[in-house]
Amino acid sequence: MSELNLVLLGPPGAGKGTQADRLVSDFGLPYYSTGIILREAVAEESELGKEAKQYMDDGELVPDELISRAVAERFESGDADNGFLLDGFPRTIGQAEVLDEILESRGRNLTAVLLIEAPDDEVVRRLSGRRTCAKGNHVYHVEFDPPKHDGVCDQDGSRLIQRDDDKPETVRKRLAVYHDQTEPLIEWYESRDLLMRFDGSRSPDEVHGLIRAKLAAKRLEDEVQQ
Ligand SMILES: [Zn+2]
Repeated sequence: MSELNLVLLGPPGAGKGTQADRLVSDFGLPYYSTGIILREAVAEESELGKEAKQYMDDGELVPDELISRAVAERFESGDADNGFLLDGFPRTIGQAEVLDEILESRGRNLTAVLLIEAPDDEVVRRLSGRRTCAKGNHVYHVEFDPPKHDGVCDQDGSRLIQRDDDKPETVRKRLAVYHDQTEPLIEWYESRDLLMRFDGSRSPDEVHGLIRAKLAAKRLEDEVQQ
């Protein structure tokens, strides 16, 4: 079987996290999100980790260049040599070029870039309806998964709040950044014949089924060519 080297792409709230969980359990792939890679570097207290921690402690965004170096370091460990699922990286064309270099230096190629799309209004509806329990991080949705009593957690009776990240104006801002920085990647990967598009407004089960079917077809194609 050929290895699966995958990148997940798409706006926040399109269901990437759910699909990532399923792909990881389907194929036993190591999962690398930018957050996980940075947290690991910080925990290991590597030079790079210390640098990243400084930004995090100051409440600043970790610069793109530092994130790229962290990803490169992660790949140098060899842990991703039998396949991987990357989420949140690359986010810009510059980072995509870095990823190309990393993979090339290890003699590997991307298998596919899975783009899960959702219209802006749908994203805002999904994210701004979320309510999180102040105590246990239990998550509800006012429309799709409401608590039994308004504003109160079913599990522990805590107050439910709307996280700042989920406020409509914040969601719109995150979407604007996505359209501006990340959307150019769609064309970039499309021109390299790596892009697979999925409609994130379908149910998670349907999206998952479609991803599996397309990946199976792609692997078959790759094996015939080898
Ligand atoms: Zn709770």
